[in-house]
Amino acid sequence: MKYLLLLLIATQACASEKKSGPVITPPPLNEVVTVETQPGFVRWVSFSVEPTQEDAELWCKDQRLKHAPLGAGRRFAYIAETYFSDSKPYSCRLVLKDKKEIPVVNFIVKPFKYKEEKLKVDYRTVKLSKKDLKRAQKEQRMLAGLYTQSASVPYFNQAFKAPLDSHITSIYGNRRVYNNAHKSQHLGTDYRAAIGVPIPAVNRGRVLFAGDLFYTGGTVIIDHGMDIFTVYGHLSEVKAQAGQIVNAGDIVALSGNTGRSSGPHLHWGVKIHGHYVNGYSLIDETKKHFP
Ligand SMILES: [Zn+2]
Repeated sequence: MKYLLLLLIATQACASEKKSGPVITPPPLNEVVTVETQPGFVRWVSFSVEPTQEDAELWCKDQRLKHAPLGAGRRFAYIAETYFSDSKPYSCRLVLKDKKEIPVVNFIVKPFKYKEEKLKVDYRTVKLSKKDLKRAQKEQRMLAGLYTQSASVPYFNQAFKAPLDSHITSIYGNRRVYNNAHKSQHLGTDYRAAIGVPIPAVNRGRVLFAGDLFYTGGTVIIDHGMDIFTVYGHLSEVKAQAGQIVNAGDIVALSGNTGRSSGPHLHWGVKIHGHYVNGYSLIDETKKHFP
């Protein structure tokens, strides 16, 4: 007992010495941080680089990702984990001109089981006719081309917000069974909205697409830079124009019930370097970026 008490005093003395000590060590260059993520989430990460490493390529799994400056000697990136993740740990690394690789972030992926919901929709939009399938595929190719055109630096300089504060009728990630047969995943957030509710841009960006699509009906897609896009679907009226720069809060459309939709609502999607993620993870992470 006496020995234990002595030990306690000794450790406490040690702790208080540490607290008041003047030792401040700067973060080492290319320190490797470990970040926890989950399928369908995005994480904002920052890391230090040497001046010669600023234009190094950032690679995560088999994707090359954009990274941008964050003050002297630091860079940041938004790293999305696919909904379909195998939940295995991995490292993102800088690849230098001489092909040398420097790890900067280790990811631990926490598995997550998304809920199932049953829906009834117009049979035509579940089992597509040849004509509809052709249209949907043509649109997929057109969109794939547009999604390669993101700006290399962010258009935004504040945190993202949700498009509406109305009741959420379907959260991100639900596994959906249509008409008891066709299965898919709901990779966006649905908000209750009557036809004609003004829909704001959730942050500053450039309108990438504004028009009509088979699945999402009246649709606006905004490029926020660094391969971060927001999608607004089932709109009754599109008010923005492709190429236009919009600020956070600018009205880009009116809500509706167009495309594959089972009632008036707003579908909000967030796509980051090819992966649809939970929009609320982007909101949370941008609050770390812009505290
Ligand atoms: Zn939806």
